[in-house]
Amino acid sequence: MFPETRLELVQRAARLFKESKFGVVFTGAGVSTDSGIPDFRSPDSGLWRNVDPMAVASIYGFRHNPEGFYNWVRPLALRTINAQPNAAHHAIAALERMGYVQAVITQNIDMLHSRAGSSLIYELHGHMRQATCIHCFTIYDGEDIMRTFLEDNRVPHCPKCRGVIKPNVILFGEQLPIRELQGAQDVTRRSDVMLIVGSSLEVAPASDIPVLASRTGARLIIINLDSTPADHMADVVIHGRAAEVLPEIVHQLERMT
Ligand code: NAD
Repeated sequence: MFPETRLELVQRAARLFKESKFGVVFTGAGVSTDSGIPDFRSPDSGLWRNVDPMAVASIYGFRHNPEGFYNWVRPLALRTINAQPNAAHHAIAALERMGYVQAVITQNIDMLHSRAGSSLIYELHGHMRQATCIHCFTIYDGEDIMRTFLEDNRVPHCPKCRGVIKPNVILFGEQLPIRELQGAQDVTRRSDVMLIVGSSLEVAPASDIPVLASRTGARLIIINLDSTPADHMADVVIHGRAAEVLPEIVHQLERMT
């Protein structure tokens, strides 16, 4: 038995969508690397080099030393604020317009799915759209706060109470936003196909979502550069760049209509 070619794998993924009634996409940092935003686990990303994740990216670390968080997040924020959706985000939005995708669940905070035109998006780890004072809970425009920080390099403080302002991203040690998580679980239970893109599936509880999809009967398609712990549950696994493989799936679906 010869291994399937890339074209055969792409055609099989397209057929799964064609036969499905409720498609859901689950994405991680790898969907955005071709927009210039590094992921966390690829060896060359550099985001964890010389830092203790629990010191810089946990809620305890943030409360104790907000400068540590802001210094660490600076390169990521700089790239995120200037990033544009790539061909993978656009292909996911196209799958929704074609009627094959009903919802997107993302671990990303970069808002690129909404910029590409996807409409129902569950952002499990928050986003940079807003930022909140951790003392009086006043909400601010997150992009304004980050742009000011990137210019003046000073930890943002609340003009009302002088509390520290934190972007609405979920740090280690914080609960996932309950409405986003429940919404994501609901669409996952309804899905009959789940496309998983650019995630190491190592960050729980988000990584439980594909397992839930498989357990409740969905067929899984995984597109990732590296292997993942869910590969053995998937009907189709394609090791490739999301910005190349996803447009190929859209192209195959266009040929089938
Ligand atoms: P991860 O860094 O753990 O894994 C990324 C995966 O994507 C890797 O397995 C890698 O092989 C794959 N990958 C990288 N580039 C790819 C490409 N072009 N095409 C296909 N696959 C590619 O990411 P994760 O699983 O999302 O977990 C990391 C956490 O970091 C998440 O909680 C996320 O919130 C956060 N994060 C978000 C961003 C963002 O918003 N863009 C960026 C970095 C980290």
